[in-house]
Amino acid sequence: MVHLYNFTLAELKDWLAHEFGEKPYRAVQLFEWMYQKRATGFEEMTNLPKSLREALAERAFLRSAKEVVRQDSKVDPTSKFLLEWPDGVTVETVLMRHNYGNSVCVSSQVGCKMGCTFCASTLGGMIRQMQAGEMVEQLMYSQSLLDGQGGRVSSIVLMGSGEPMDNYDNVMRFIDIVSDAHGLNIGQRHITISTVGLVPGIRRLADEGRPITLAVSLHAPNDELRGRMMPVNKAYPIAKLMEACHYYYQKTGKRISFEYALVAGQNDSLACARELAELIRDLPCHVNLIPVNYVPEREYRRTEKKQIYAFWNALQEAGINATIRREMGHDIAAACGQLRAQHMNRRA
Ligand code: SAH
Repeated sequence: MVHLYNFTLAELKDWLAHEFGEKPYRAVQLFEWMYQKRATGFEEMTNLPKSLREALAERAFLRSAKEVVRQDSKVDPTSKFLLEWPDGVTVETVLMRHNYGNSVCVSSQVGCKMGCTFCASTLGGMIRQMQAGEMVEQLMYSQSLLDGQGGRVSSIVLMGSGEPMDNYDNVMRFIDIVSDAHGLNIGQRHITISTVGLVPGIRRLADEGRPITLAVSLHAPNDELRGRMMPVNKAYPIAKLMEACHYYYQKTGKRISFEYALVAGQNDSLACARELAELIRDLPCHVNLIPVNYVPEREYRRTEKKQIYAFWNALQEAGINATIRREMGHDIAAACGQLRAQHMNRRA
């Protein structure tokens, strides 16, 4: 059986031609049914010949995941849900309703192998990659929650579980599918990939010249500190990472966002802020300061509000653009991997 959400429109055209001798416009019709009319079954697709609908039902499917948990925040319009696939794996997805549009946070892997010390996603290691179609399903599920309210998903952040640059081809295929004008039509400018800092991936993205937004999880201004928080720093130390970031800017002309999760007593001193400013001052960029989310399995404290502002202020004074990330869904375990970790603990 073929998962149709895995196909780009071009691939769907090839597949329909090859398997059923259909003309390209049929693929466009099918694609529009899937993504614009949000069909969940082939029988709905009334402008396709009945014989084709029946043949499709025998050979292909659309949705394969089921919802196992859904939480709607009481403090803001955020929904978080856990989907389960037939092989038993679960990943979480977050839908954030902002006043400027609806944003979905997608998971790119089941678990993660990057080992960042503050992150819940990596606690059980990496189980498997998410296929492109499975990421599409996370989006279609989010869109189905909005359909009742007349809303649409307008932006995507690949900031759920997993490292998107460690699943590069599937992530790009996913982006090709959801940005297609015959489908969900979410512009690549409104899609952000967040990476732990895999240098080859950053360089490849730069060379491909896609208008995607790049976010880099920096979290510390020097190798000593970053190495303690993020094992990946051994393979790609800060100097190499910064070289890749400069290359990315040269190639694309796009500003990079640096993510910096503030952990009390670790990376939140004003000396760190000044060192950070020094490190990135000659690169057009923006810093997102994230008050670290508490993860029960991890031992650390979040920085006090006063110190967060002091840190932000030190960056501003050094001429660095920075914002303090607004927290959403704080009451529903909205940090990456938290919901899945809770679910697995309950099952164990
Ligand atoms: N693997 C990618 C994307 C997933 S995480 C990456 O590392 O960028 C998205 C962001 O959330 C990253 O910046 C990550 O470092 C951060 N993050 C992970 N756990 C967190 C926590 N407990 N509190 C705050 N931010 C966290």
